[in-house]
Amino acid sequence: MTRLALFDLDNTLVDHDEAFRRWAEEFADDHGLDAEAVERLVALNGHGYLPREALFAQVKEDFGIDGQVEDLYAAYRRRMPRLARCPQQVRDGLTRLRTAGWRVAIVTNGRADNQLGKIRSTGLDEVVDAWAVSGAEGVRKPERGLFEIAATRAGASLGAGGWVIGDHPVMDVAGGRAIGFATIWIDRGTWAGQEPAPDHTVTDVTEAIGILLSGVEHPIAERR
Ligand SMILES: [Mg+2]
Repeated sequence: MTRLALFDLDNTLVDHDEAFRRWAEEFADDHGLDAEAVERLVALNGHGYLPREALFAQVKEDFGIDGQVEDLYAAYRRRMPRLARCPQQVRDGLTRLRTAGWRVAIVTNGRADNQLGKIRSTGLDEVVDAWAVSGAEGVRKPERGLFEIAATRAGASLGAGGWVIGDHPVMDVAGGRAIGFATIWIDRGTWAGQEPAPDHTVTDVTEAIGILLSGVEHPIAERR
């Protein structure tokens, strides 16, 4: 059986919150805003889940920024790939998974330019088999379609089972369960009160990779 691992991107393989804070600091600097504004921007961001059009409409209004919302968003999408980081340890972990026979793919919601930019700038493009970005495919997590595209591109099929690893209780954990996959939730402490019922809960993606490498049995297969 092909072992398939589908990873979320933001706040799973790359630290979106950290990259966003760096962007906010630059933005504040460019527009003569103070440190309080940086905290306001970080709070508005909602760990990346406030739709970006709404974010930039709010930013324009709150800080009296000149220019169009779409232009502010476009500048953000050009900059974010340069600010995103993926630790070497994480890339090495993905390489180990593939060496051990796993197929590895990224499944992410977002605009194609921004998400692909991050996948490439962090070197993740060289250590995974495939990716599916909602903005390029016209279907979003937690819908089955985006997982299916990633699986097919990685040379696997959803019917054979696998794992979804991510930080979002609905997009990743509920989404993964809905396609019959086992799930590992990266609990960063940002979704208070959510109990998504994953098969495993960890605080960092390297721990999740460790679980997969440890040769866990496929819990879904056991249930069947
Ligand atoms: Mg995420």
